[in-house]
Amino acid sequence: MPLEQNPQSPDISGDLAALESQVRDDLAKTLHPSAPWLEPKTGPDGRPALDVLIVGGGQSGLATAFGLKRSQVINILVIDKAGEGKEGPWLSYARMHTLRSPKDYTGPDLDVPSLTYQSWHEARFGKEDWQKLNLILRERWAEYLLWFRRATGISVRNGCELLEIAPAANELLAATVAGDSAIETLYARKIVLATGQEAMGNWAIPEPLRHLPPTRVVRASDDIDFTALSGKTMAVIGAGATAFDNAAMALEAGAAEVHLLCRRSEMQVIQPYRWLTFRGFLRHFCDLDDAWRWRFMRAILELREGFPQPTYDRCARFPNFHLHEGSPVESARETGAQIELRMPRGTLRVDFVISGAGTEIDFAERRELKNFAGNIATWADRYQPPHDERSPRLGLYPYLADDYALTERVAGVTPWIGNIHLFAFASTMSFGPSGSSINAMTTAIPKLVHGLTRGLFRADLERHWNSFKAYDVAQAVIPRPDRAG
Ligand SMILES: Cc1cc2nc3c(=O)[nH]c(=O)nc-3n(C[C@H](O)[C@H](O)[C@H](O)COP(=O)(O)OP(=O)(O)OC[C@H]3O[C@@H](n4cnc5c(N)ncnc54)[C@H](O)[C@@H]3O)c2cc1C
Repeated sequence: MPLEQNPQSPDISGDLAALESQVRDDLAKTLHPSAPWLEPKTGPDGRPALDVLIVGGGQSGLATAFGLKRSQVINILVIDKAGEGKEGPWLSYARMHTLRSPKDYTGPDLDVPSLTYQSWHEARFGKEDWQKLNLILRERWAEYLLWFRRATGISVRNGCELLEIAPAANELLAATVAGDSAIETLYARKIVLATGQEAMGNWAIPEPLRHLPPTRVVRASDDIDFTALSGKTMAVIGAGATAFDNAAMALEAGAAEVHLLCRRSEMQVIQPYRWLTFRGFLRHFCDLDDAWRWRFMRAILELREGFPQPTYDRCARFPNFHLHEGSPVESARETGAQIELRMPRGTLRVDFVISGAGTEIDFAERRELKNFAGNIATWADRYQPPHDERSPRLGLYPYLADDYALTERVAGVTPWIGNIHLFAFASTMSFGPSGSSINAMTTAIPKLVHGLTRGLFRADLERHWNSFKAYDVAQAVIPRPDRAG
């Protein structure tokens, strides 16, 4: 696999250069079978179509591209609407100091030791620093992902947004994308949507607050000017790690009072993702029948993720931080320059609200899904849980095929969506932790890559058969007596 040097990348220290050489070596030694096996199809524009278009250049998109390249699927393209290095949440709305996952969880490296975060960290900061390290700084994780991309030779077309997907001739998909200056159509046999937490919807604003102006109520994923909150009274909705991170940012910026409103009577402090982190669950959850998949994921996703102690402590050290348990917002209205929030146990007046209530599934929210949003099958379309396991919220999750492909609500209406593969948080109901989780990458990405190569191989069966029949490369030369003589 070639190493593409990026001219804009920072200088490589001696140790990093040595590590990159090790990566090249490791990849060269594990290249087998290295024979090319795909032939580009021709798009309606007369040019070769991509085998796979990967949308999203975050950790999932990069790891998928890496997995495909190792499978000799090299006619691929990764695009991301963000600028180089700005992919994913790490340098924008991720507002924690460190990752929450333990430092030894491997991820995009796909089990190649020289590509792990640990190897990069040791090369960059020394083995001793790694030993002393508690949790990975999020800026370092972002830097590591950029290095991973360079070391594996994956190029990403940044500043390129997917706007629309439609079917095209020759069993291709047509992706309309907007770049710096132009809108163009890319043709691909398959598209992977590695578009992050909000891939199939958006970050949620609870219903009672939706009518309020964006100058007063924002999502945790928005670009928030925390310095402007100095001296202000504010509320954060939600009690997950993201809600706490946003409350901490406001407190650290000098907010007068920060109220964190938790719907439940008691906050959730268990982290179910720690329990499920074992190979059996991560690898084989997707092999379970619908009843078991629903039972597990409903229990896990209804519980929601807990947060670690430092996340709580970062807020609790401020005397002007107020935690309100059992406080769902029942109604909200503007009163002059403030917002009045009504909860079962009282009323609060605040200047500003940040919603950290997680993401919700709503296919229609995403422009790139609009051509087929109405025909994406959901769990509610495919499975009716017992009465005590119902969850309308989770019923909205897409019901994916065993290769992460979208499936049709009504068969035959949009059959081409079977070539759109979703690797994002919304894949979780079908696959357990998979997209949007460092935790699961080492098992989930190979499964996705396997599904993609299986589809590409099967679709080309006739060509492979003809190629086999035409194969006439002799391995040995047998001298024959000259019979005519
Ligand atoms: C605040 C926060 C903290 C987290 N902390 C942890 C943690 O500590 N440990 C852990 O295991 N997980 C954590 N996660 C979960 C998960 O690891 C991250 O969400 C991670 O970023 C997922 O990677 P991804 O590549 O799937 O998505 P992303 O990193 O979000 O990348 C998706 C990319 O798709 C691009 N994109 C989206 N739509 C389009 C489009 N239409 N066209 C082109 N490009 C598009 C985006 O610009 C983005 O760069 C955290 C998540 C969040 C939100």
